Amino acid sequence: MKAIICGAGIAGLTLARELCERGWEVVLLERSPAPRTQGYMIDFFGPGYDAAETMGLLPRLHELAYRVPEACFVDRNGRTRARVDFERFTEALSSRMVNILRPDLERALRENLPAEVDQRFSTGPAHIANRSDGVRVTLTDGRELDADLLVGADGVHSTVRTLVFGEERNHLRYLGFHTAAFTFHDPEIHARLGDRYFLTDSVDRQIGLYGLRDEKVAVFAVHRTNEPTLPADPRAALLDHYSSLGWLVPDVLRRCPAAEDVYYDQVAQIETHRWHSGRVVLVGDACYAVSLLAGQGASLGLAGAYVLADRLRRAASVEDGLEEYEQLWRPVVEEKQRTARSGVRWFLPHTSTQLTLRRIALGLARLPGVGRFIAKSQTGKPVTTITELNRQGGTTGFSARR
Ligand SMILES: Cc1cc2nc3c(=O)[nH]c(=O)nc-3n(C[C@H](O)[C@H](O)[C@H](O)COP(=O)(O)OP(=O)(O)OC[C@H]3O[C@@H](n4cnc5c(N)ncnc54)[C@H](O)[C@@H]3O)c2cc1C
Repeated sequence: MKAIICGAGIAGLTLARELCERGWEVVLLERSPAPRTQGYMIDFFGPGYDAAETMGLLPRLHELAYRVPEACFVDRNGRTRARVDFERFTEALSSRMVNILRPDLERALRENLPAEVDQRFSTGPAHIANRSDGVRVTLTDGRELDADLLVGADGVHSTVRTLVFGEERNHLRYLGFHTAAFTFHDPEIHARLGDRYFLTDSVDRQIGLYGLRDEKVAVFAVHRTNEPTLPADPRAALLDHYSSLGWLVPDVLRRCPAAEDVYYDQVAQIETHRWHSGRVVLVGDACYAVSLLAGQGASLGLAGAYVLADRLRRAASVEDGLEEYEQLWRPVVEEKQRTARSGVRWFLPHTSTQLTLRRIALGLARLPGVGRFIAKSQTGKPVTTITELNRQGGTTGFSARR
């Protein structure tokens, strides 16, 4: 059996490894010319952590991870107004969490990729002929590839989804924010940050800063706007929206790189009526992005790919495997999407009263028991899918080798 996976992100790399291990021939297409280095820090826990453990990835993830003991919310004069104890948050998740840069998570997955996976960069699908027994993909360079299965693991703005399931506007739910991330090198700012995560204590917009290895600084920005259209020049938009936040922010923004090195996008969820059609299936942000509000998109992308590979292995046919994957995984991600949406109002204070209430809530969160309660209410129901799949052990459905 042969699969073409479009997108070498977290979901695509996981699936490529898992299908290859199960005897599939895999072609992995990536639009970028090389592995993406741009990124932001993610909290990685939940079902993705469980799947990474089964895949033997945890030692490498812990090696690449950052230890962030605390987040401090600072005002425009650099005065700390509230704190979050990350150690307590991690304890609430039974210490099964790592803080890791998205590119480092992809790096660990790529290092784990079997040599037989045919990785192709600077390419993607231009046309898809989807039949009941297979798929023909015409690539952007005009070449054609045939396979038994095409997987769209190509993120929020998935091309596979658009070509097979219709226009993006029918699937994307804009949540009312723009977000950006970039990194730069500066020993002085790096030293001022130490190992803590700093966030501005501000209304309707927020900048987060943390020090990385090699004296680099990572910047995360989010602001509220009713306008989903992205600005033509992200750097100019960042200067415009955030410069007046004071503290280190104007200095940081002066170090913002050129547009191509800045991640800038809407904060959005993806809701797709069907995740598969014929021999095309979607996974990860492409069909169920939960948004950064959920703080679990990477985890759900990795775990979803693991579930898809598992179902394909056990099912009597490809069609059954795709159906079982959707039935098993859809309720899990829909619950996370609902949890994230219910927190939209509190994600970023909209008034000075909400800002004050957030400070009080963060103060209370430092009390034993309350922190655990808040962590649980933000992450939604615990997901045991991966543990249950692993308990089921190994029965193979159809043979992937032909
Ligand atoms: C600021 C921010 C903070 C976040 N924080 C967290 C967090 O704390 N915890 C967490 O778990 N998640 C977090 N997330 C979410 C997480 O990053 C995503 O959910 C996750 O990256 C989704 O993985 P994916 O593989 O589905 O898609 P992506 O990571 O988007 O990967 C898609 C891949 O497909 C490629 N591609 C796109 N189009 C094509 C094409 N046409 N042809 C070929 N290749 C293509 C892309 O280049 C990319 O490599 C955060 C997201 C943001 C933006």
